Amino acid sequence: MAKYSSKINKIRTFALSLIFIGIIVMYAGIFFKSSPLVMTIFMVLGLLFIIASTVVYFWIGMLSTKTVQVICPNCGKQTKILGRVDMCMYCNEPLTLDPNLEGRDFDEKYNRKANK
Ligand SMILES: [Zn+2]
Repeated sequence: MAKYSSKINKIRTFALSLIFIGIIVMYAGIFFKSSPLVMTIFMVLGLLFIIASTVVYFWIGMLSTKTVQVICPNCGKQTKILGRVDMCMYCNEPLTLDPNLEGRDFDEKYNRKANK
């Protein structure tokens, strides 16, 4: 089951990794001190990654307004559902808002149908 995690958590991990990539790229620029042009390119690239992650964080904020808050039947904590099916943020219990899908195996492709 570890294969799936809550969508918001996934996007958050992605945004966080963008920040790290940005920092690593900027740090790599320091090794090109002798060439100001190359260093500037690295700095700008690193900055772009960090800007991208800011955009992703903003996107998470937008998505969060579309989520539905539910109480997870498995662990009893309040979690958020994005789309038709999602996972509990705490215990990865598959949750659905669609009664037709209740009891079925968790499948992310149900979301794609719903997004059309
Ligand atoms: Zn739960």
